[in-house]
Amino acid sequence: MKDIKKVVQVRSCLGEHCVECDEMLPSEQGSIHIKINHYLDHGYQLLCVGIEGQSLSNGQANLETIAILGKGEKVK
Ligand SMILES: [Zn+2]
Repeated sequence: MKDIKKVVQVRSCLGEHCVECDEMLPSEQGSIHIKINHYLDHGYQLLCVGIEGQSLSNGQANLETIAILGKGEKVK
């Protein structure tokens, strides 16, 4: 595995701009694969996917998917 020089984190519940091309990535629930695919197109590789849970004041849990992607240095 190449050395990872750059790491980005994407979340399913947040609208985010791509750190590479500044494109707006959608924030709809369940759309995290769109963000992941977008970063894969930039040469990133998927490092980790996780679920983060938050307890809401009404007693319900709010689950959010988080993905960590990393990009290594290009081998010349
Ligand atoms: Zn991009």
